[in-house]
Amino acid sequence: MAGKRLKPVRVPVRRRGPEERIKDFGEVALGYDLDEAAAEADRCLACKKPVCVKGCPVGIDIPGFVGELKAKQPGAAVTKLKEENLLPGICGRVCPQERQCEAQCILGRKGDPLAIGKLERFVADWEAEGGQAPAVSRPERSGLRVAVVGSGPSGLTAAGELARKGHDVTIFEALHVAGGVLTYGIPEFRLPQWVVDREVGLLESMGVKLVLDFVVGRTATLQDLARDFDSVFIGIGAGLPTFMGIPGENLNGVYSANEFLTRANLMKASSFPEYDTPIKRGGTACVVGGGNVAMDSARTALRMGAEVNIVYRRSRVEMPARKEEVDHGAEEGIVFHMLTNPVEVLGEGGYCKAVVCQRMELGEPDESGRRRPVPIEGDYFTIETDTLVMAIGTRANPLLAATASGLELNKRGYVVASADTFATSIPGIYAGGDIVTGSATVIEAMGAGKVAADQMDGFMRVGAAR
Ligand code: FAD
Ligand code: SF4
Repeated sequence: MAGKRLKPVRVPVRRRGPEERIKDFGEVALGYDLDEAAAEADRCLACKKPVCVKGCPVGIDIPGFVGELKAKQPGAAVTKLKEENLLPGICGRVCPQERQCEAQCILGRKGDPLAIGKLERFVADWEAEGGQAPAVSRPERSGLRVAVVGSGPSGLTAAGELARKGHDVTIFEALHVAGGVLTYGIPEFRLPQWVVDREVGLLESMGVKLVLDFVVGRTATLQDLARDFDSVFIGIGAGLPTFMGIPGENLNGVYSANEFLTRANLMKASSFPEYDTPIKRGGTACVVGGGNVAMDSARTALRMGAEVNIVYRRSRVEMPARKEEVDHGAEEGIVFHMLTNPVEVLGEGGYCKAVVCQRMELGEPDESGRRRPVPIEGDYFTIETDTLVMAIGTRANPLLAATASGLELNKRGYVVASADTFATSIPGIYAGGDIVTGSATVIEAMGAGKVAADQMDGFMRVGAAR
């Protein structure tokens, strides 16, 4: 690292302009080519103690894969990356790197941190476009069987890691498509479905079996799986919608973000007229919330022809959405009403027509450390809207747990699992991702799946040796 000249500015990533991209669901960011990736990789200082790796929940050897890119060896970079992460195309696009590895990168002290996420995406896309990576040897079969419940990032990661340890892995997924939020929630302009399908397909080629339309808690119970398999991982997410409980929320045109995005993505309302999924198109839409889910809902409504407002009860600084997504939304013409909270939905003939909002101000910090929004007495205004999307958080779905006696839950209905091992109250059953932590991030769910896979491996091998 000594003597290397700092290059403080990132190689910019090509992206489609706002006027063009709001007309379709095509991807916004276009990614690097090999020359751009190698130039960005050349900024890395190859630190002796790479702090960036500490910021990555799956522990990617960041200087290792970046070093291969610097040498223009993308095939070797694929191999390095996949030693620790089997979903690089997904992570490179939606992982909040700015709060993870890139937040640690020492280049960030004097300029832009290395664009680790964009480099990861480049490597994954290079392989997807036909680049050949060196072959990986197949592990010896253990003869042990694992069930994974849910095919979101936690379940996919647990499944992939267990498969490469030689176990026989079956994923049971409630929906007719794998991917969890990656498929039904995050829209194609941020994460194209082909990326998810490809990385799921690679897990299948490693021997992971996928059983779709299988609801654990209905089609079979957790006990059934515990009887038939040597270990079980629960990665069912926390997708149960919440509403505000204000008057008028049951009017037509008021959706939970989960329903709105599922209609648009999974049920392909975004591909009208090929798919005629019922959803309100055009007109005006208002989205309540300040997270990634709110941004995705707003930008989806925009692409279906609506004029879009976002209503958020705190200020821009407190918005939990990724900064890049908020900036893209603003560029695309979304109007933000900060320090604003809906108090009533007004309707006409059973349909939503407007939302009455109250202005807020920031008070003392609350238990989350963010300043609490406090209503300003008597300060109301109305936003006309045909569609209202509630993106104010989700909860645990009780279906699986209701039929799983002995599985300890906390008072909010989330599965209790050890923070170190992800073991639940039932020996041999592990859990991770949003069903343990509440709504979090793709990479945190993957980190949980990876650690749990190691623990499950140890648990099964000890049992098999007895
Ligand atoms: P999920 O992804 O929720 O997957 C759970 C899976 O389990 C689903 O497929 C579900 O159908 C299945 N399942 C549920 N119950 C059962 C059952 N009883 N039997 C069988 N299967 C079952 N995070 C980021 O890091 N970056 C982002 O940009 C980002 N954007 C987001 C945008 C949206 C719209 C949403 C909703 C979330 C976003 N997140 C983002 C959060 C992130 O997607 C989640 O934290 C992550 O997907 C959680 O992974 P998981 O594996 O725990 O669960
Ligand atoms: Fe490279 Fe930054 Fe990691 Fe150092 S901290 S190895 S400069 S990415």
